[in-house]
Amino acid sequence: MITNQLISFIQEYYKTRDFIPLHAPVFEGNERKYVLDTLDSTFVSSVGRYVDEFEKQVADYTKAKHAIATVNGTAALHTALYLSGVKTGDLVITQALTFVATCNAIAYLGADPVFVDVNRETLGLCPKALLNYLEEHCEIRDQVCYHKNGARVSAAVVMHTFGHPAKVVELKKVCDGYFIELIEDAAESLGSLYRGQHTGTFATMSALSFNGNKVITTGGGGMILCNEDSVSHRAKHLTTTAKQPHPYEFYHDEIAFNYRMPNINAALGCAQLEQLNKYIENKRMLASLYQSELVASDLEFIVEPQHARSNYWLNAVLCPSKQYRDEMLSKTNQAGVMTRPVWQLMHTLPMFKNSLRGPLINSVFLAERLVNLPSSVSISR
Ligand SMILES: *Cc1c(COP(=O)(O)O)cnc(C)c1O
Repeated sequence: MITNQLISFIQEYYKTRDFIPLHAPVFEGNERKYVLDTLDSTFVSSVGRYVDEFEKQVADYTKAKHAIATVNGTAALHTALYLSGVKTGDLVITQALTFVATCNAIAYLGADPVFVDVNRETLGLCPKALLNYLEEHCEIRDQVCYHKNGARVSAAVVMHTFGHPAKVVELKKVCDGYFIELIEDAAESLGSLYRGQHTGTFATMSALSFNGNKVITTGGGGMILCNEDSVSHRAKHLTTTAKQPHPYEFYHDEIAFNYRMPNINAALGCAQLEQLNKYIENKRMLASLYQSELVASDLEFIVEPQHARSNYWLNAVLCPSKQYRDEMLSKTNQAGVMTRPVWQLMHTLPMFKNSLRGPLINSVFLAERLVNLPSSVSISR
């Protein structure tokens, strides 16, 4: 087992024998300055210049046409699915290998997830598995996709696992053929490109997250990316209680959400975004060091997929067996080096245990063997 060597490598890299977290944020730029500015101005809440500025900067960075800031990534996903027309009783296809927020957002709308397998290489929804599922279980009537059980299949959500881009061009093609709206859960993949284009800009809508453990953070926060003016307008309206602009009257024209990101969080985001390219370089360097360290070992380091440039949000290895994985998790965590298994597959959780699913061979294989390694940006380098 290479575990002891790996522990030493990680302790040397982070220059400490104390506890090493999986992913800690770094605030060494303008974070204090901008946050204090919101306090001094008293604009800490849902109105303020940092929110608009942060949206503009994220749109510029990702080359999305529009970006709408939200209180967290789950709220962004919820709004994106709502705007895609997902209704009670619908089915939404997604991966079983994901964080629970993906499925919670589907369930908030009264829809049920359908689990389809992921690619062994990308760890994201597999276009072939998706097509196979649709061909076997679904049919198109009047440009609407129906499951053979009668339910409408209104959307599919792909998640870019650990920041590694999924085969989103191929997925979009399959979805278009079946009149299904594709949504990207790009919560983990800010800064990751597929075929030179930013993840989250392939689908009509996508969600980013700025939670404390993500590549950059606003404390809590999220963003909806979209490329259509009308959708963007609806997204802003729905996330801000559907209030019609007026100098003093309160008029709300539909039931909507209070999902606007506060200015104090956006201030943190603006400062973090200034560091993003540096962080990604730093993370990609760490990934290549891990890769070299593990090259002759029995662990397979997860590398960025073909045609992709990954932000390497969380580094991961694939263990030869579940037993090996369990031993490795126990040894590393005992040594104060935080490692984690991947999330329990969604169809094994009580609330999704009866959800429909296709074969999940890769998902099960990966879930038993993946381990995430410490991946924080190390700024002293
Ligand atoms: C972080 C994350 C989200 C959103 O999380 P929030 O904490 O609500 O910002 C959604 N999906 C995935 C896959 C995530 O990793």
